[in-house]
Amino acid sequence: MREELEDFIRRMPKVEIHVHLEGSIQPETLLLLAERNGVRLPVDTVEGLREWYTFTDFDHFVEIYVTIASCICAPEDIEFIAREFLRGQARQRILYSEVTFTPTLHYNLNRRIPVEEQAAALGRARRWAAEELGVGVGWVFDISRNVRPIEQGADVARWAIAAIDEGVVGFGLGGPEVGHPPELFAEAFAIAREAGLGSVPHAGETAGPESIRGAIDALKAQRIGHGVRCLDDPELVEALRERQLPLEVCPSSNVCLGVAPSLEKHPLPRLLDAGLYVTINSDDPPMFNTSLTDEYLRICNAFGFSREAIMQLVLNGVRATLLPEGERREMERLFEAGFDESPHGT
Ligand SMILES: [Zn+2]
Repeated sequence: MREELEDFIRRMPKVEIHVHLEGSIQPETLLLLAERNGVRLPVDTVEGLREWYTFTDFDHFVEIYVTIASCICAPEDIEFIAREFLRGQARQRILYSEVTFTPTLHYNLNRRIPVEEQAAALGRARRWAAEELGVGVGWVFDISRNVRPIEQGADVARWAIAAIDEGVVGFGLGGPEVGHPPELFAEAFAIAREAGLGSVPHAGETAGPESIRGAIDALKAQRIGHGVRCLDDPELVEALRERQLPLEVCPSSNVCLGVAPSLEKHPLPRLLDAGLYVTINSDDPPMFNTSLTDEYLRICNAFGFSREAIMQLVLNGVRATLLPEGERREMERLFEAGFDESPHGT
């Protein structure tokens, strides 16, 4: 890749709208947490952990998540991982992020950290990041599709609403997609939407077009997490194109999870050729050995995108945020000016 383009990508202002807080914990941070809380990890060196983190299959992925949850024992731990995460975003010049957080992970599985304490910890990290780092964050509380009883989904919606003052802006749906269709969670999403939270479920990642249709019809999705499987259904592609419904595309995640056979064969160019609304994101970056900056570098390398094409993808991200319209427009202006300040190359 041309050096100046690489430099531009590193320095350009960015937003990220599909990234999981728990899935973003770096090995170094996990080691610190494990030490602090006396939790035994399968490996106890940064190098070992980095290797253990590397995705092998979905079961291993779940094991990593459970291990991470077991290291988060108090609200202070949540504040700590949120600060570390936001520091990493600031380093990549990601000025604003919408970040998924799974409250049941710290309530059902682990030490039953009261949800209002979880939310307060996130709020503290958010205020700190705004003051100290100059970066913004909106939280997306999500339900894991395998949550049982299913009614707990509605509890999560109420928890999210109660945490709006701590920066919660959206409501999500994650976890195993196959066998857990969106329709099961219609009530929970209705509660969240009623209170003004954005509907941003995962769909069309490991399940096909019917999952995306369900997310649109039953959950009134404003964006689709992944959504790359829409290409299996031309009519759905047309509907998504017409509505310009944003897709949160995460290329390296798709390759690691086997959704795409390789980066070179990733459907990203086909999504763009079809006129769909695409944004670029990192999902669970350390597990997929990536970062948002790396995602942009990799797609540029694989598909030869121009600087203009990259700027368009970034602006797509800005326009797809759940910020109030005035703030969103302001951010758009800021980004356009920021692109000009980044090096143009010679
Ligand atoms: Zn995700």
